[in-house]
Amino acid sequence: MKLHEYQSKDLLAKYGVPVPEGEVTTTAEGARAIAEKLGGNVVVKAQVLMGGRGKAGGVKLFTNADDAAAFAKELIGKRLISIQNPDGMIVEKILVGTTIDIAQEYYLSVLLDRNLQKNIVMISKEGGMEIEHVAETNPDAIIRLTVDPAWGLSDFEIRDAVKRANIPKEAAGQMVQMIKKLVKAYIEEDADMIEINPVALTPDGKLIAADAKVSIDESALFRHKEYDETSSDSADNAIEAEAMRRGIAYVNLGGEIGIMANGAGLTMQSLDEVNAAGGRPANFLDVGGGAKADRVKSCVELILMDPNVKGLLINIFGGITRVDEVAKGVLEAFSQMDVKIPVVARIEGTAVEEGRKILQGSQIIAAETVEEAAKKIVELAYA
Ligand code: GDP
Ligand code: MN
Repeated sequence: MKLHEYQSKDLLAKYGVPVPEGEVTTTAEGARAIAEKLGGNVVVKAQVLMGGRGKAGGVKLFTNADDAAAFAKELIGKRLISIQNPDGMIVEKILVGTTIDIAQEYYLSVLLDRNLQKNIVMISKEGGMEIEHVAETNPDAIIRLTVDPAWGLSDFEIRDAVKRANIPKEAAGQMVQMIKKLVKAYIEEDADMIEINPVALTPDGKLIAADAKVSIDESALFRHKEYDETSSDSADNAIEAEAMRRGIAYVNLGGEIGIMANGAGLTMQSLDEVNAAGGRPANFLDVGGGAKADRVKSCVELILMDPNVKGLLINIFGGITRVDEVAKGVLEAFSQMDVKIPVVARIEGTAVEEGRKILQGSQIIAAETVEEAAKKIVELAYA
């Protein structure tokens, strides 16, 4: 789960990484107050979870609180569009921070290298621009350091890497310290990515994190209730954000056939069958175990929030969960909602006969196999 810059900087500050002073706000008046408090020389930064904010017009420097507030007013509610995020994201929060004088911009990150199955540190003297661009045009400028899972990094390894990255002497010692703090924060906070770009070197020789991006391993989020409130900000899509709030595994896929299945495998199979039948899945949705009436209802609601959905495919296999319970849940959900689109259900497993009986006479069309269900729903939905 991606954290906002302000959350990332707070996290890094806890580990002693130097970050500029600043506060987050959602109003122009709030921005003015923070800018005044910081003495007027401030940078106003859109808190949107996308790269390239600077180029998209989401980062601007000011020398007085009035101008900062005027820009804040313009920025809040605006949709920022970047190359990395062509759909753009609406700005709700802004960070107002003390402007740093920047003499040099470096790059520093810790992330999981899935091929190596290890964490790595990446260091570059070529900061400020996108690291992908550096990787393409000047790959030798990026130094990679593998973190041994048992031993971590030793000081001499870090010092050597910083030297190989050609970080100048005046900054090298501070860079070594910053890397140690970053790796510690990465491990202790269950991160799967920490990136500081740029690491700023000020004219008086101090290293400071001018930007910060932290991503927390989603499997560890149960240990980090502090992010509950902002977790839905990370979603790319409003329905995905709502799904996150409801604790439902949902991914919007942009097609027309809504899909509700239990278990990730069965859901993937449903997507494949819909594709094979010539339809386009609207979503991935795993109802999860149990699938009681209120949860089923919540899932159906989510799927129908997508205005593109023209048909609903239900694919449930009852193992420990009895499918007659699921069928009851589905009917109860439908009785409380006005579902106007065709619905085809394939249910199988424990207590299937009772389950099918329950669905008889309802608006739900039964199918024997997933393939048959997919064909039927595609036929009905695109008719
Ligand atoms: P990004 O575009 O989303 O990566 O946002 P950044 O926070 O990295 O800001 C983009 C660029 O704005 C940076 O690379 C810096 O060159 C510049 N910038 C950001 N904060 C400051 C600051 O405090 N002082 C100065 N001089 N430049 C800044
Ligand atoms: Mn940046």
